Amino acid sequence: MKIDLANLSEFPCDVCGSNRAVEIECAREYTQGWPLHVCSDCGFVYVRHRRAAQAIADSWSEELYGTHYTARIPAVVARQTYVAEFAHGALDLSGKRVCDIGAGEGTFLDMLRDARFGAIGFGVEPSAANGKLMASMGIPHFVGTIEAYRASPEARPESFDIATVLWTLENCQSCRYMLDAANDLLVPGGHIVVATGSRILVPFKKPLQYYLGPGDQDTHCFRFSRNSLSSVLANSGFETVKVNRDIDSDILCVVARKAPKGTLVARTRDDAQAVLDFFARWHAETKAHYAGL
Ligand SMILES: [Zn+2]
Repeated sequence: MKIDLANLSEFPCDVCGSNRAVEIECAREYTQGWPLHVCSDCGFVYVRHRRAAQAIADSWSEELYGTHYTARIPAVVARQTYVAEFAHGALDLSGKRVCDIGAGEGTFLDMLRDARFGAIGFGVEPSAANGKLMASMGIPHFVGTIEAYRASPEARPESFDIATVLWTLENCQSCRYMLDAANDLLVPGGHIVVATGSRILVPFKKPLQYYLGPGDQDTHCFRFSRNSLSSVLANSGFETVKVNRDIDSDILCVVARKAPKGTLVARTRDDAQAVLDFFARWHAETKAHYAGL
């Protein structure tokens, strides 16, 4: 695959809006030449060159879900269980109306409606095949992107107490737009739960090629730290109230509360050089691992 950057749009930093960014030099070795950048001003790791939002959603629903991705494997059930327990401990899910953005095959919502948690779920999911799965499971849902759902208030049954975004925020074209849309769905004082495996500035969880992967990089635009995830949440009117111990977990999970718009300022940032050093060390560790085999 040879990518043509001229066919893609170039984006500024999704956290602070800066156009100043440094490329992570080792990344191209793993991404078939698709560059990955670090914001010079806030340290956010993001893919600058992306297709349109619908093209990215189509990639997920037609190519990725259709070929190799499924939530029905032990690793995914385990991480969804972890997030459900973490969210339940923070928010008590019992009787709460939950909107799962990027609901996939409905497995997380199926888990949440179990007596253990007792939540009332609704899914937003771009894949029609996954929509059919949720229909067969009796899970109310909307087939389309969160952008389309936001533009279709008639499709919305009500406001929600909690929005969940699991292994999804890193896969959209605009994390800002997705979080703004989530904010719109919630009652005043409602909460959002974001979970991701795409976290940085923590111990390396796997060889770098499995983290960056060979596919279209704009299906995976963002790599979050605790700071950058809290900052993008603040930009969309969410105050972080609880973060898991991501230092010894593969998962970064944040619970945040909807605050009145314009009252929050993103203050936390990462040092860009520290982030570049982190990837350089990961690259060296990956090389050393395979050299020793
Ligand atoms: Zn930035």
